[in-house]
Amino acid sequence: MRLLRALRALAMTGVVVLSLVAPVGLAVPAPVEPTVRVAILQEAESIRLTVPGPCRLKDQATGALLAEWPELKWQEIRPSNPGLLWGRQELPASGVVLDVNPDTIFRVNARPYRGELIVQRTAGGRLLVIVRLPLEEYLVGALTSEVSAGWPLEALKAHAVVSRTMVAHRIWIRKAQEFDMTSDTSTHLYHGVAAERSRTRQAVEATRGQVLAYDGELFSATFHANCGGHTEDAAEIWDVKRGIPPLQGVEDPYCRNLKHYRWRTSLGEEEFLLLLGATPAQLGSLQKVSVTQRNASGRVRGLQIRGGRGKATLTGRQLRERLGANRLRSLNFTVSLNSGRVAFDGLGWGHGVGLCQWGAFGMARQGKTAEEIVQFYFPGAQRRALKGLPGFVSVNNI
Ligand SMILES: [Zn+2]
Repeated sequence: MRLLRALRALAMTGVVVLSLVAPVGLAVPAPVEPTVRVAILQEAESIRLTVPGPCRLKDQATGALLAEWPELKWQEIRPSNPGLLWGRQELPASGVVLDVNPDTIFRVNARPYRGELIVQRTAGGRLLVIVRLPLEEYLVGALTSEVSAGWPLEALKAHAVVSRTMVAHRIWIRKAQEFDMTSDTSTHLYHGVAAERSRTRQAVEATRGQVLAYDGELFSATFHANCGGHTEDAAEIWDVKRGIPPLQGVEDPYCRNLKHYRWRTSLGEEEFLLLLGATPAQLGSLQKVSVTQRNASGRVRGLQIRGGRGKATLTGRQLRERLGANRLRSLNFTVSLNSGRVAFDGLGWGHGVGLCQWGAFGMARQGKTAEEIVQFYFPGAQRRALKGLPGFVSVNNI
């Protein structure tokens, strides 16, 4: 057990252990697990750190030991010039790594995490705070941050496979970057240890190491709340290669009338024009708002806004950015102008690419398996072990 812990600690620090020779002379495979670096805070002015156990602080650039403590209580860390201020101690390093026992839960600004903590001074003179932890441990917290642990197990298992694929793909393509994931909706929500639940752990363990691959490689699998009846082609939104079958979008009957399927919102004429950056003086009073183009999944590509003095055109994505992604929940909408108000009636919530979370819920409730769910949303993808895929050739324990 102690050996296992020591090996896990080595894996956490990024030391690759190829093999060890046990006292009886047998080679013991080292549990080198992929780790994920999650930026939990970006551009923070300071943090407070509590570690209820031994920890060692190292210079991120050189690996030199800077300090060690039996525990830390409510320790303040701030940026200074050129390094970091750790309590009252000035550190010359602009990036530090805190090694913590893998079983120790530490707190950053009172929120609990596990893994290894990395703190860097940013170019803007603030703090970038990253936790680095084994991929499978991360997924347990990340999954519950996205969906309810009370969902049918097959839906949770399908989501675990999709989340693992997304994260592994980012670990692969972001090797040269400072971190792999953020902790917000721009990549994958992660609320740390507080979000871990036994049923999400069960879903992660039941699919341990399993990912989706296309043509022998990981791809940018992703998910959204509700597609509104048709998932989106990833190439409509992101700069990805066109024609990858698992990312082209499918017609989805399973999310119909489940949560977030329909939405409606309306704005006053003046507020609408202000958010678009136009004024009644420029366009005149609003006469018509019309959709000029839709894509194959039915989502709005282009709109025209006509006023008494002129007209303006914009893309659906520009409109969603300006009105806000939570107000204009999706690009699958119709728009009308009634008594000075611009009214939108829409379907779905989110970008619509990949797994439809509420559709997965609907499929599992109808008795579909996790395998059937991922095959439905990612047609042509193969369920594979992460081990051996490009970027993960040397992974040897999952
Ligand atoms: Zn759907």
